[in-house]
Amino acid sequence: ETQSPTPHVLMMPSPGMGHLIPLIEFAKRLVFLHRFTVTFLIPSGGPPSKAQVSVLNSLPSAIDHHFLPPPPLNDLPTQAKAETIIYYAVTRSLPSLRDQFKSMVTQRNLVAFVVDQFGTVAFDVAREFNVSPYIYLPCSATTLSLILHFPNLDETVVGEYIDLTEPIRLPGCSPIPGTELPDPFLVRKDDSYKLFLDTMSKFVLAEGIFLNSFPELEPNPINALQSEKSGKPPIYPVGPLVKIDSNGSEEEGVECLNWLDEQPHGSVLFVSFGSGGTLSSVQMNELAMGLEMSGQKFIWVVRSPSDKEANASFFSVHSHNDPLKFLPEGFVERNRGRGLVVPSWAPQAQILSHGSTGGFLSHCGWNSTMESLVNGIPLIAWPLYAEQKLNAIILTEEIKVALRPKKNEESGIIEKEEIARVVKSLFESEEGKEVRAKMEELRVAGERVLGEGGSSSGTLLEVVQKWRNNISR
Ligand code: UDP
Repeated sequence: ETQSPTPHVLMMPSPGMGHLIPLIEFAKRLVFLHRFTVTFLIPSGGPPSKAQVSVLNSLPSAIDHHFLPPPPLNDLPTQAKAETIIYYAVTRSLPSLRDQFKSMVTQRNLVAFVVDQFGTVAFDVAREFNVSPYIYLPCSATTLSLILHFPNLDETVVGEYIDLTEPIRLPGCSPIPGTELPDPFLVRKDDSYKLFLDTMSKFVLAEGIFLNSFPELEPNPINALQSEKSGKPPIYPVGPLVKIDSNGSEEEGVECLNWLDEQPHGSVLFVSFGSGGTLSSVQMNELAMGLEMSGQKFIWVVRSPSDKEANASFFSVHSHNDPLKFLPEGFVERNRGRGLVVPSWAPQAQILSHGSTGGFLSHCGWNSTMESLVNGIPLIAWPLYAEQKLNAIILTEEIKVALRPKKNEESGIIEKEEIARVVKSLFESEEGKEVRAKMEELRVAGERVLGEGGSSSGTLLEVVQKWRNNISR
């Protein structure tokens, strides 16, 4: 009996921890469920971060990785946006990516090349070697719809999107006010807009797009995407995919899990702004006082504040300064026993799956959202950057699994009283009960679609079989 050859997939995550983690999780599904092997080819703007290395080193042997040499980026303006840095880090890594393809194409059964939303500029390299390019998009179906309609919006919208008097209406999606669009949309003459448009316009060139969502979560947007034919690649909803088997690989912040063990069931609010989120110092102070006023137990992943940008820690979560120094005087002592602050990074997936956790104040990153969903934990929506404002609208108004605190319109700050009110409301009010029940419903649905015979596992299997067939031909 002959052994069928092992299919091998190349994956290229764009720079940033928040982009690496989702692709790793997708890779694990191919390895654990379908016995594929995977190699990560990782472009970056600098040396790998400690967090990246620790995650990559804990992977099973069927997942290999290789850091592409960081290309020079010192010609970029110092105030270049994250999207601009990512774009050049990726495009300037294409020659070394090509070298990797060259050396692997003869040794392995390369069946696919999978990138995330910033990797489409590498499609041509894969095509040169006859390897089909795919996208794994760790975002909502609404975000995908926005991306696919972006070239058309660019042609039809006159002036800045933020000045639009009518919201943008995409098939099956909630109306999106121009002001809530992802950051690169905001200033059309900025370089980041053009580069973003270039990257997103290449989505249609994919052989297929995997989406971390499922029909029960976003019925109308997914339906619209799948029925809109017009030459678009097939859409494969395979979610909710979240971190599996962290088996203590992340040592940072594990003491908070011990602390959680001692708290009552569902009593703790987890507060975190993802891999890159930072608050201004005024806002950070207000959040500290709001949490204290709410009387709720909490774990807060604290970063050093940044008054300039909301994604100040995007490329490295560890700031030079001790973030706890920026908390109000006496805050840690006053809240001892009731609140725990964790500097920079916490084992979020484990915290959310802990029985003592009962709510999540989140920046609405889609991965965080899925991690909350699979544990049935309702959200407080606090978007900061990227497509987070769009997610906040979907979560609050469409899916109805989140409460959202209001800004003071004049100062742009969410004040302590408002924070305390929303936190209390999540744990105690009727409104809080409703979002909790809805999240629980989605948790059950998510479990079902990933189970045997479920739509997400079926969709992945369909593509996996297609890839296997391509080898035998
Ligand atoms: N994360 C974590 N610990 C932290 C912050 C983030 O483990 O202290 C993980 C989180 O569990 C999620 C990812 O990093 O898997 C963040 O992804 P998301 O899409 O939510 O936000 P982004 O970082 O892309 O803004």
